[in-house]
Amino acid sequence: MEKRQELYAGKAKSVYTTDDADLLVLHFRNDTSAFDGKIIEQLDRKGMVNNKFNAFIMEKLEAAGIPTHFEKLLSDEECLVKKMDMIPVECVVRNIAAGSLCRRLGVEEGIDLTPPTFEFFLKNDELGDPMINDYHIESFGWATAEQLSVMKKLTFQVNEILKALFLEGNMLLVDSKLEFGIYHGEVILGDEFSPDGCRLWDKDTREKLDKDRFRQGLGNVIESYEMVGKRLGLSF
Ligand code: ADP
Ligand code: UDP
Repeated sequence: MEKRQELYAGKAKSVYTTDDADLLVLHFRNDTSAFDGKIIEQLDRKGMVNNKFNAFIMEKLEAAGIPTHFEKLLSDEECLVKKMDMIPVECVVRNIAAGSLCRRLGVEEGIDLTPPTFEFFLKNDELGDPMINDYHIESFGWATAEQLSVMKKLTFQVNEILKALFLEGNMLLVDSKLEFGIYHGEVILGDEFSPDGCRLWDKDTREKLDKDRFRQGLGNVIESYEMVGKRLGLSF
């Protein structure tokens, strides 16, 4: 497999074509952004940590029967994935209230959500990733009703698999964001799963171990990501 030209540079990753039209290289950079890209910083080791963390999680999900784009790790900061047509929608599943849910609804952070709740956001930084619903997605043609229902079903399944996995490391999966795309007609999980796109708290102390450390200026961001990985048995 040969890496070719850059197709797209996002806020945290760069995407490259390869000599295989069905495959892309994802390069995880050290760039860390928050508030829809309004704040960007370089954090040492972040690309490597998130790349390895994501590979570990994607392999666990595949083993549990979730179709993902992940093929294999290529280097410390790169992995090979299936080239998808991305659905421009973020699927957020929440087990505990935090973040924008608290701001929007005025609820207290930390409240258990039973059953877990689900939200769609449009991937559009200029608009600040507005919340959208099923009807918007269908009316604007971002996905079909059938694709929507697969995205929801897979998101809840991923949530249950990962809730159990993080619990083994004495962590609570508070919420997470997933992105899906279409590969040869099938809806599969894409992008990344790392502490950048989810909230994880220590089960006993409720200490924040995810990107909220960066958003809230709590420090030790990458040290925390590495600790999360180590608690799952990962070494970097
Ligand atoms: P953003 O675009 O939100 O700034 P990133 O910096 O993470 O995000 O950039 C990665 C981009 O690659 C995202 O737009 C994501 O939707 C896209 N992407 C992720 N996985 C795939 C894939 N398998 N095929 C095509 N595009 C993908
Ligand atoms: N999230 C993300 N990318 C985004 C927006 C949110 O990965 O563009 C993740 C975020 O890290 C959290 C979950 O989705 O785990 C829910 O985020 P929320 O809606 O609470 O927004 P935030 O408080 O991050 O602005």
